[in-house]
Amino acid sequence: MSRVGPVFGAGAVAALLVGGVFVLDSAEAKSRQDPLPEIRRSEAPTPRVTKRLGNRQGAVLVLMYHKIGPKEAYMVRSKANFEKDLDRLYRLGYRPVTLEEYSQNRMPLPRGASPVVLTFDDSDPTQFRLKPDGSIDPNCFVGVWAKFAKKYPDFPVKGTFFILPNGPFGQSKLAAKKLEMLRGWGSEIGSHTMTHTALNTLTDAKVSWELGASYEYIAKLGFTARSFATPYGIAPKNRTLLKRATWNGRTYGYENIVLAGSSPAPSPLSRKLDRTRIPRVKAYGGELGINDWLTKMKQGKPKPYVQP
Ligand SMILES: [Zn+2]
Repeated sequence: MSRVGPVFGAGAVAALLVGGVFVLDSAEAKSRQDPLPEIRRSEAPTPRVTKRLGNRQGAVLVLMYHKIGPKEAYMVRSKANFEKDLDRLYRLGYRPVTLEEYSQNRMPLPRGASPVVLTFDDSDPTQFRLKPDGSIDPNCFVGVWAKFAKKYPDFPVKGTFFILPNGPFGQSKLAAKKLEMLRGWGSEIGSHTMTHTALNTLTDAKVSWELGASYEYIAKLGFTARSFATPYGIAPKNRTLLKRATWNGRTYGYENIVLAGSSPAPSPLSRKLDRTRIPRVKAYGGELGINDWLTKMKQGKPKPYVQP
């Protein structure tokens, strides 16, 4: 009996191929293959990040970014506004966690803090660029965030990057270096398919290739992709493929699947959380964008998750 393909996660059911027939292994389903590190608690008590009462049932902000540039535009966050986002999040007591940490309820948060998940789609070159001297371009997302994190080390460059095979982030020769930097800060790498095609236009076989081949692409880069963003937020006609698709004799599935909009996500402890449909908030200034939801959540509509 041999294990076939990466099916993962506490909630996922492991598939084993026995004589060409899939069987379910419940023992495998109970234990994670690759558990996240235990949450470390510091010895000395540290002051609470906010005076807000603990609330493990509160909502979680999962933000969606695409490109950064000098001016705000459709799908482009201006550098000035991204700086403001980080500053406002920090002052309101938000601290970054990855999508996987949020979804699996393993958020290493200080007391009184609220989680925020910063997600970046498309591995656009403006997200992470290195200059010829090896330093981080101060105008890319990672550059702005790294500068902020230097000032506020408790807001590290820890996000979820849904990547495409476009380098990733262009500069393919520097990809390994960039990914090691992201890993060092605790960021997560997720899949965004191979070709960024709307999945409802593809056959089941093509969808399975998009899911499996991108998993393998990310595996070659040294990461296990547990999170997935559907291009344009559009699911395939056969939605079960996202959790279980067979390509090239292997079975693939993703634990955490995000949508494209437009509200905060339920607490990881909430029964309302469907990990295959995690809502995100668009990082722009308009209605139901980041500014709008930060104001609403400050007013308790909805109340944010707060680490007790
Ligand atoms: Zn995209």
